Amino acid sequence: MDFRLTAEQESFRESVRRFARDKLAPGALARAHDPAYPWDVARTMAQQGLLGITIPEASGGQGGTLMDAVLAIEAVASACPRSADVVQAGNFGPIRVLAEYGTAAQKKKFLTRLLSGDAVICVGMTEPDAGSAVTDLKTKATRVEGGYRIQGSKIFTTHSAYADVILAYVRFGPGVGGIGSVLIDTKADGVKRGKKSHFMSGEEWAELHFDDVFVAEDLVLLGEGGFKKQIAGFNVERIGNTSRSLALGRYAYERAREWAVTRKQFGRALCEFQGLQWKFAEMKMKLDAGQLLLYRAAANADRGLPDAQETAIAKAYCNQAGFDVANEALQVMGGTGYSSDSLVEYCLRRCRGWMIAGGSIEILKNRIAEGIFERTFPQRVKP
Ligand SMILES: Cc1cc2nc3c(=O)[nH]c(=O)nc-3n(C[C@H](O)[C@H](O)[C@H](O)COP(=O)(O)OP(=O)(O)OC[C@H]3O[C@@H](n4cnc5c(N)ncnc54)[C@H](O)[C@@H]3O)c2cc1C
Repeated sequence: MDFRLTAEQESFRESVRRFARDKLAPGALARAHDPAYPWDVARTMAQQGLLGITIPEASGGQGGTLMDAVLAIEAVASACPRSADVVQAGNFGPIRVLAEYGTAAQKKKFLTRLLSGDAVICVGMTEPDAGSAVTDLKTKATRVEGGYRIQGSKIFTTHSAYADVILAYVRFGPGVGGIGSVLIDTKADGVKRGKKSHFMSGEEWAELHFDDVFVAEDLVLLGEGGFKKQIAGFNVERIGNTSRSLALGRYAYERAREWAVTRKQFGRALCEFQGLQWKFAEMKMKLDAGQLLLYRAAANADRGLPDAQETAIAKAYCNQAGFDVANEALQVMGGTGYSSDSLVEYCLRRCRGWMIAGGSIEILKNRIAEGIFERTFPQRVKP
C-alpha cells in the first residue's frame, strides 16, 4: 500500500494550484460575499480544462478520474474557497449523473454549454414534505402524447435562482419504484421561480414550481425504477461535498496557523501557548483522518461511481471535521476570525451547510449502521 500520489497526480495538482494562486486568489474575499454565481470563474475554468474532468472525452470532458477531480477541487479551494463550487458544478453534481446515464442526444443538447461554463445544471430532489425522506417526493410526471406533464415544487435547490436546466426527481408511479428523473429547461412554459432566499453561506436559492410543464419523452433521464441508479450517481456529488468540507476546513486551518505564528499576546506568539498547540494538533489529526477516508472513496471509484458505504463514511466524517476545524481556527483567530474581512468565518458558514446538504450526517450514519449490521432499518412507522 502506498499513500503517496503518483507523479502525474502531483504535477496535475501543482498546475491547478498555480492557476488558482494566479487567477483565483485575487478577489477570493469579494467572491465569497457575492451571492451570485461566479460566471467569470466558470468560463476561465472551462478554458483551463477544469470542467468535465471525470467526463469521457467522447462526451466533451477530460476523461480523468474522480481522484483527479478531487485534487482539482482541493487545489482551487486552497486559493479561493468560493471557486471550489464551480469545480463542484462542473464535475461532481448533476452534470456527472447526466454524463453517466444520459442519451447521446441529451448530452449533446446540454453538456456543451455546461462544459463551456456558460450554463449550470441543478438537481431538484428536496420538496417541502420530502427532505431526508426523499422518496416521499410528490412531483408527478403524468403520461401525455409525446412525453409527460410535470406538476410539483422543489425547495433548497443549489443554483436554482439562475440554473439553465434542472435534473428533477419525479414520480412516474407509486412507491420507490415509481421514482425517476427528467431534464427540465428552466425557460420551458410552466417553470416558475417562487420566493427567493439565501442559505447561511450567502448563496441564493429560489423555490422551483412546475405548473403542468411539458417534458418530451426524450428528456426523461431515468424512467420508472431509476431511483437506485440516480442515488448511485449522487454519490459523486457527495464526494464533492466531502472534498469541499475538508478543503474549507483546511483553508481556515492554514490561515489560523499563519496567525498563530505572527500574532503576539502577553509578549509571545500565540503558537507558544500549549492550549492553542493542542487545538492545532486536534485540527491536524481531523484533517489527516478525513483526507484518508476521502481519498479511499475517490481512488477506489477510479473512473466509475464511488462505493455508497465508503462515500457515506467519508462524507459524515469530513462534514463534521471541516466544520470543527473551521470553528477552532476561528477561535484561534479571535475577533479577526469572526470578522467578515477574513475568509475563516465564510468557511465556517459553508461547512455548516454540508452537514445538512447531500444527505445529512444523521442520515449517512443510518446508512453506515445498515452496512455494519448487514440489514436495513426502515425509518418509517409501519402503517
Ligand atoms: C446548503 C444546502 C444545499 C442544498 N442543496 C440542495 C440541492 O441542490 N438539491 C436538493 O434537492 N436539495 C438540496 N438541499 C436540501 C437538503 O438535501 C435537505 O435539506 C436535507 O435532505 C434535509 O432535509 P430537510 O431540510 O427537509 O430536513 P429534515 O428531513 O426535516 O430533517 C431535519 C433533521 O432531522 C434529522 N433526521 C431526519 N430523519 C432522520 C432519521 N431517520 N434519523 C435521524 N435523523 C433524522 C436530519 O438529519 C435533520 O438534522 C440543500 C440543503 C442545504 C442546507
